[in-house]
Amino acid sequence: MTKNLILLGLPGAGKGTQADKIIAEYPMVHISTGDIFRANMKEETELGQKAKSFMDAGNLVPDEITNAMVADRLAQSDVVENGFMLDGYPRNEDQAKFLDQFLAERNEKVSATLYFEVPDQVLVERLLGRGRADDTQEVIAHRLEVNKEANLPLVDYYAKHGVLNTIDGNGELDRIYSDVKTALDALD
Ligand code: AMP
Repeated sequence: MTKNLILLGLPGAGKGTQADKIIAEYPMVHISTGDIFRANMKEETELGQKAKSFMDAGNLVPDEITNAMVADRLAQSDVVENGFMLDGYPRNEDQAKFLDQFLAERNEKVSATLYFEVPDQVLVERLLGRGRADDTQEVIAHRLEVNKEANLPLVDYYAKHGVLNTIDGNGELDRIYSDVKTALDALD
């Protein structure tokens, strides 16, 4: 059976770093909605133009744009064959419900979520150190607030569905990855 995995955690929680490690060892396709939006902005596609003002301000891109983009990507054959590892999606409960429905229509489901838990102060330090165009202090503070508001209901949602694995995301990368492997290898 292919695995469908979701990485949860606030911006700066280390999802991208752990994603690279996971993908080197497991067959799922890595799908980062932030990366897809950034690529579209760079190429100046219609999708990129729609997303730009929201991203620049640190706001979420509206669900109807984001859900449609994710649905398109999940329907592609590499994902159907190998399963997915979503990074940065879902970002709120409505997106989570959309995803569940999309999967249910295809007799699929979310196999597991990994929630990387990191204290706020550490998140801010990491984001400031990253130096991305949308990582100015003001935008970071706003982006954290926006994401926090949606994050807890999302964590609760997956806890209720019995697929939440909480990982201590503050500390040594190898220890974090070893906790990730323990969670993934426990899946059947
Ligand atoms: P990220 O690289 O995941 O931090 O995403 C960068 C930006 O892309 C976010 O601040 C949002 O503007 C947008 N974005 C990424 N994923 C989503 C999503 N699931 N829903 C809405 N907006 C998103």
